[in-house]
Amino acid sequence: MSSQPKLHTLFRRDEIEATVKRLAAEIRGDYYGKYPLLIGVLKGSFMFMADLIRLLDFPLEVEFIRLSSYGRGRQTSGRIKVVQGPRSEVKGREVLVIEDIVDTGLTTSFLLDYLRKKKPASLKLCALTDKPSRRRIPVTIDYLGFTVPDKFLVGYGLDWDERFRNLPDIHVLEGDIHF
Ligand code: 5GP
Repeated sequence: MSSQPKLHTLFRRDEIEATVKRLAAEIRGDYYGKYPLLIGVLKGSFMFMADLIRLLDFPLEVEFIRLSSYGRGRQTSGRIKVVQGPRSEVKGREVLVIEDIVDTGLTTSFLLDYLRKKKPASLKLCALTDKPSRRRIPVTIDYLGFTVPDKFLVGYGLDWDERFRNLPDIHVLEGDIHF
Protein backbone atom coordinates (compact mmCIF):
# COMPACT_ATOMS: atom_id res chain seq x y z
CA MET A 1 0.00 0.00 0.00
CA SER A 2 1.34 3.45 -0.81
CA SER A 3 -0.38 6.76 -0.17
CA GLN A 4 -0.70 9.52 -2.75
CA PRO A 5 2.16 12.01 -2.74
CA LYS A 6 1.28 15.08 -0.70
CA LEU A 7 2.42 18.61 -1.44
CA HIS A 8 3.43 21.04 1.27
CA THR A 9 3.95 24.61 0.03
CA LEU A 10 7.44 25.97 0.70
CA PHE A 11 7.45 29.21 -1.36
CA ARG A 12 4.32 30.89 -2.66
CA ARG A 13 4.29 32.59 -6.05
CA ASP A 14 4.51 36.09 -4.52
CA GLU A 15 7.67 35.11 -2.58
CA ILE A 16 9.14 33.62 -5.76
CA GLU A 17 8.25 36.78 -7.68
CA ALA A 18 9.99 39.00 -5.10
CA THR A 19 13.07 36.79 -5.17
CA VAL A 20 13.26 36.74 -8.96
CA LYS A 21 12.96 40.55 -8.89
CA ARG A 22 15.87 40.80 -6.47
CA LEU A 23 17.99 38.48 -8.61
CA ALA A 24 17.14 40.46 -11.76
CA ALA A 25 18.27 43.68 -10.05
CA GLU A 26 21.59 42.08 -9.04
CA ILE A 27 22.13 40.66 -12.54
CA ARG A 28 21.20 43.97 -14.17
CA GLY A 29 23.80 45.75 -12.04
CA ASP A 30 26.54 43.43 -13.28
CA TYR A 31 25.54 42.76 -16.90
CA TYR A 32 23.84 45.92 -18.21
CA GLY A 33 25.39 46.82 -21.59
CA LYS A 34 27.46 43.61 -21.77
CA TYR A 35 25.13 41.58 -24.03
CA PRO A 36 25.40 38.45 -21.83
CA LEU A 37 24.59 34.92 -22.91
CA LEU A 38 22.17 33.35 -20.42
CA ILE A 39 22.21 29.56 -20.57
CA GLY A 40 19.28 27.79 -18.90
CA VAL A 41 19.58 24.16 -17.86
CA LEU A 42 16.60 22.17 -19.14
CA LYS A 43 14.07 21.32 -18.16
CA GLY A 44 13.91 22.58 -14.59
CA SER A 45 14.98 26.19 -15.21
CA PHE A 46 12.54 27.07 -17.99
CA MET A 47 9.96 28.88 -15.83
CA PHE A 48 12.58 30.70 -13.77
CA MET A 49 14.37 31.76 -16.96
CA ALA A 50 11.15 33.05 -18.52
CA ASP A 51 10.32 35.16 -15.45
CA LEU A 52 13.88 36.39 -14.96
CA ILE A 53 14.54 37.63 -18.50
CA ARG A 54 11.26 39.53 -18.60
CA LEU A 55 12.72 41.70 -15.84
CA LEU A 56 16.02 42.32 -17.64
CA ASP A 57 15.59 45.45 -19.73
CA PHE A 58 18.77 45.31 -21.82
CA PRO A 59 20.00 43.24 -24.78
CA LEU A 60 20.93 39.67 -23.94
CA GLU A 61 20.86 36.27 -25.58
CA VAL A 62 19.05 33.18 -24.31
CA GLU A 63 20.22 29.60 -24.85
CA PHE A 64 19.34 26.30 -23.27
CA ILE A 65 21.42 23.26 -22.55
CA ARG A 66 20.11 19.81 -21.84
CA LEU A 67 22.03 17.36 -19.72
CA SER A 68 21.45 13.65 -19.28
CA SER A 69 18.40 13.06 -17.15
CA TYR A 70 18.32 13.07 -13.38
CA GLY A 71 15.89 10.16 -13.78
CA ARG A 72 13.03 9.26 -11.49
CA GLY A 73 15.16 8.98 -8.41
CA ARG A 74 16.30 11.54 -5.92
CA GLN A 75 20.00 10.90 -6.45
CA THR A 76 22.13 12.24 -9.27
CA SER A 77 23.71 9.22 -10.90
CA GLY A 78 27.00 11.06 -11.36
CA ARG A 79 27.02 10.00 -15.02
CA ILE A 80 26.29 13.32 -16.67
CA LYS A 81 26.31 13.99 -20.40
CA VAL A 82 25.45 16.97 -22.56
CA VAL A 83 22.46 15.88 -24.61
CA GLN A 84 21.95 19.23 -26.33
CA GLY A 85 24.61 21.92 -26.15
CA PRO A 86 24.24 25.66 -26.68
CA ARG A 87 24.12 26.56 -30.39
CA SER A 88 25.64 29.99 -29.89
CA GLU A 89 29.38 30.54 -29.70
CA VAL A 90 30.42 30.64 -26.03
CA LYS A 91 33.99 31.77 -26.68
CA GLY A 92 34.57 35.35 -25.57
CA ARG A 93 31.01 35.79 -24.20
CA GLU A 94 29.86 36.91 -20.77
CA VAL A 95 28.07 33.69 -19.80
CA LEU A 96 25.55 33.33 -16.99
CA VAL A 97 24.23 29.83 -16.25
CA ILE A 98 20.65 29.65 -14.95
CA GLU A 99 19.99 26.61 -12.74
CA ASP A 100 16.92 25.41 -10.87
CA ILE A 101 18.66 23.61 -7.98
CA VAL A 102 22.21 23.02 -6.88
CA ASP A 103 21.96 19.80 -4.89
CA THR A 104 25.07 17.59 -4.69
CA GLY A 105 26.76 20.02 -7.08
CA LEU A 106 27.78 17.23 -9.48
CA THR A 107 25.63 18.47 -12.37
CA THR A 108 26.53 22.12 -11.98
CA SER A 109 30.26 21.59 -11.58
CA PHE A 110 30.24 19.29 -14.62
CA LEU A 111 28.43 21.98 -16.62
CA LEU A 112 30.69 24.81 -15.48
CA ASP A 113 33.78 22.75 -16.43
CA TYR A 114 32.23 21.96 -19.81
CA LEU A 115 31.53 25.65 -20.51
CA ARG A 116 34.87 26.86 -19.13
CA LYS A 117 36.64 24.73 -21.77
CA LYS A 118 34.85 26.81 -24.41
CA LYS A 119 36.70 29.89 -23.19
CA PRO A 120 33.97 32.40 -22.26
CA ALA A 121 35.11 35.91 -21.25
CA SER A 122 33.39 35.27 -17.90
CA LEU A 123 31.31 32.49 -16.39
CA LYS A 124 28.91 32.90 -13.48
CA LEU A 125 26.08 30.93 -11.92
CA CYS A 126 22.57 31.97 -10.94
CA ALA A 127 20.57 29.32 -9.05
CA LEU A 128 17.00 29.62 -7.88
CA THR A 129 17.57 27.20 -5.00
CA ASP A 130 20.50 25.70 -3.13
CA LYS A 131 20.54 22.59 -0.92
CA PRO A 132 23.91 23.04 0.80
CA SER A 133 23.39 20.09 3.18
CA ARG A 134 23.67 17.69 0.22
CA ARG A 135 26.77 19.16 -1.40
CA ARG A 136 29.46 16.72 -2.56
CA ILE A 137 31.44 19.12 -4.76
CA PRO A 138 31.92 22.79 -3.87
CA VAL A 139 30.06 25.16 -6.20
CA THR A 140 30.13 28.96 -6.06
CA ILE A 141 26.69 30.44 -6.62
CA ASP A 142 27.00 34.07 -7.71
CA TYR A 143 23.25 34.84 -7.60
CA LEU A 144 21.12 32.74 -5.25
CA GLY A 145 17.36 32.76 -4.78
CA PHE A 146 16.57 30.49 -1.83
CA THR A 147 18.50 28.19 0.46
CA VAL A 148 16.34 25.08 0.92
CA PRO A 149 16.29 22.06 3.26
CA ASP A 150 17.11 18.51 2.21
CA LYS A 151 13.63 17.79 0.83
CA PHE A 152 12.42 16.91 -2.65
CA LEU A 153 10.95 20.01 -4.30
CA VAL A 154 8.42 20.26 -7.11
CA GLY A 155 6.61 23.05 -8.93
CA TYR A 156 7.75 26.22 -10.71
CA GLY A 157 9.47 24.10 -13.36
CA LEU A 158 10.63 21.32 -11.02
CA ASP A 159 9.22 17.87 -11.60
CA TRP A 160 8.78 14.51 -10.04
CA ASP A 161 8.76 12.01 -12.91
CA GLU A 162 7.61 14.84 -15.25
CA ARG A 163 4.70 15.80 -12.98
CA PHE A 164 4.12 19.09 -11.14
CA ARG A 165 6.31 21.35 -13.35
CA ASN A 166 3.31 23.53 -14.11
CA LEU A 167 2.54 24.46 -10.49
CA PRO A 168 3.15 28.17 -9.84
CA ASP A 169 4.38 27.69 -6.25
CA ILE A 170 7.30 25.59 -4.96
CA HIS A 171 6.29 22.61 -2.82
CA VAL A 172 7.92 19.86 -0.83
CA LEU A 173 6.82 16.45 -2.06
CA GLU A 174 5.83 14.36 0.93
CA GLY A 175 4.23 11.01 1.52
CA ASP A 176 5.17 7.43 0.87
CA ILE A 177 6.88 7.95 -2.46
CA HIS A 178 8.76 5.12 -4.12
CA PHE A 179 11.72 6.28 -6.17
P1 5GP B 1 22.97 17.80 -8.44
O1 5GP B 1 23.84 17.30 -9.55
O2 5GP B 1 23.40 19.13 -7.90
O3 5GP B 1 22.83 16.78 -7.35
O4 5GP B 1 21.51 17.91 -9.01
C1 5GP B 1 21.12 18.94 -9.79
C2 5GP B 1 19.82 18.62 -10.49
O5 5GP B 1 19.08 17.60 -9.84
C3 5GP B 1 18.93 19.82 -10.50
O6 5GP B 1 19.23 20.68 -11.57
C4 5GP B 1 17.56 19.21 -10.58
O7 5GP B 1 17.23 18.95 -11.93
C5 5GP B 1 17.70 17.88 -9.85
N1 5GP B 1 17.22 18.01 -8.48
C6 5GP B 1 17.95 18.10 -7.35
N2 5GP B 1 17.17 18.22 -6.27
C7 5GP B 1 15.90 18.25 -6.73
C8 5GP B 1 14.63 18.41 -6.09
O8 5GP B 1 14.48 18.58 -4.88
N3 5GP B 1 13.54 18.39 -6.91
C9 5GP B 1 13.64 18.23 -8.26
N4 5GP B 1 12.51 18.22 -8.94
N5 5GP B 1 14.82 18.09 -8.89
C10 5GP B 1 15.94 18.11 -8.13
